Amino acid sequence: MTKRVIFAIVGWTILTIVFLLVPSSSTPRLIFAVLTALIVLIGILVTNRKPKFSETANKELDKTEPTSFPVDALFAATIDSMREGLLVVNRDMRVVASNPQAYRLFGATPRAINRQRLTELTRNPEIYKAYLDALRGVDRSVKVDTVGPERLVFELRVTPLPGQNGSGPSGALGVFVDITRTERLESVRQEFLSNVSHELRTPLTSILAFVETLETGALEDPESSRRFLSIIRKNASRMHGLVDELLELTAIEGGNVRLRAAEVELRPLVEESISSLAAKAEARGIRLVNEVREGTSVYADARRLERMLVNLVDNGIKFNKANGQVTVKHESGARDRIIVEDDGDGIPQHHLERLFERFYRVDRARSSDMGGTGLGLAIVKHLALLHGGEVTVVSELEKGTAFTIHLPHALDE
Ligand code: ADP
Repeated sequence: MTKRVIFAIVGWTILTIVFLLVPSSSTPRLIFAVLTALIVLIGILVTNRKPKFSETANKELDKTEPTSFPVDALFAATIDSMREGLLVVNRDMRVVASNPQAYRLFGATPRAINRQRLTELTRNPEIYKAYLDALRGVDRSVKVDTVGPERLVFELRVTPLPGQNGSGPSGALGVFVDITRTERLESVRQEFLSNVSHELRTPLTSILAFVETLETGALEDPESSRRFLSIIRKNASRMHGLVDELLELTAIEGGNVRLRAAEVELRPLVEESISSLAAKAEARGIRLVNEVREGTSVYADARRLERMLVNLVDNGIKFNKANGQVTVKHESGARDRIIVEDDGDGIPQHHLERLFERFYRVDRARSSDMGGTGLGLAIVKHLALLHGGEVTVVSELEKGTAFTIHLPHALDE
């Protein structure tokens, strides 16, 4: 209750009491009392009325807003902080406004960019045509590829700027949206899908062909049947392995794999990995050597580390020559280094950069012959990253290859 209301009520009460005390007939007294009450009530309502929203807002604005609003500064800050590149040209195709993203895009300084002709800034015909169309009054959206050390892809939208008195556009405003990352992800996705389809299609075609051969008579010949069935089994297990590895890789990449890292005795772990591949190595005449010293321990998830070692030793066997050797060693330092080296084929240098990509293979036919999926090294890479480490490779043609798993010590975490 406001002070005014309290005063009014007290005033009305006093007046009424005074009048009731004055001797007079009851009817005028009553009329007077009611009239006084009504007047006081109207007074209260008028003085107590809430101000309209617009009145409040205006008052607030009056209190807080400076007399002239710095629109220019706000506009400049907005275009400077935009993630998109902005380039405005006038009717003569000269740049009249731009922002830092545009300087980066055209590799120019602010001083160099402004007042330049668009043709001096870029020779890209798509950009030029889009601005030209906008100056003719037509909105344009185009995809622009830049050439240079870093290939960038932009979506450019150019809009005409209205001129005065219907004299046509006074200029054109173009916004460059960087879609390089989206484009890259899309192409990786497409490549991945086509790789998976291809990998699955080859064994599947083979399975169907042999089943058909069996159906059309080969079933009667027990020896052929056995041979064909073993081929069918080999292809089916290849598909099974591929799907398993894909699921594993997807889980690791999607962050759905929790590590149970602890101090792990390395020598017995290497021994286990090696013995699971002993039969394969023997069949190819490859010697497997565990050079890790007794008592060496590393900080890792034992099961995942074994997976990495098996993948690397397996490759050392597959891409080796008869009587070759695969050795596992350990070196300590700022990080633990587990080295798997072979004296096999080696890998040409220009393949090394992409070696850990999914499905990347130096010799596709050879890898398929060996039952490879092209995912083994990608799994090693992601497991190493999950440990906070990495995997690196050095290789020399005809001499051999060495993969190193670098693992941080527990205290680094
Ligand atoms: P996969 O072995 O199933 O083909 P990986 O991802 O394990 O797939 O390996 C990718 C490719 O890297 C192999 O196809 C092979 O060309 C090459 N590679 C991997 N390890 C070795 C190695 N120790 N020696 C030579 N080439 C190798």
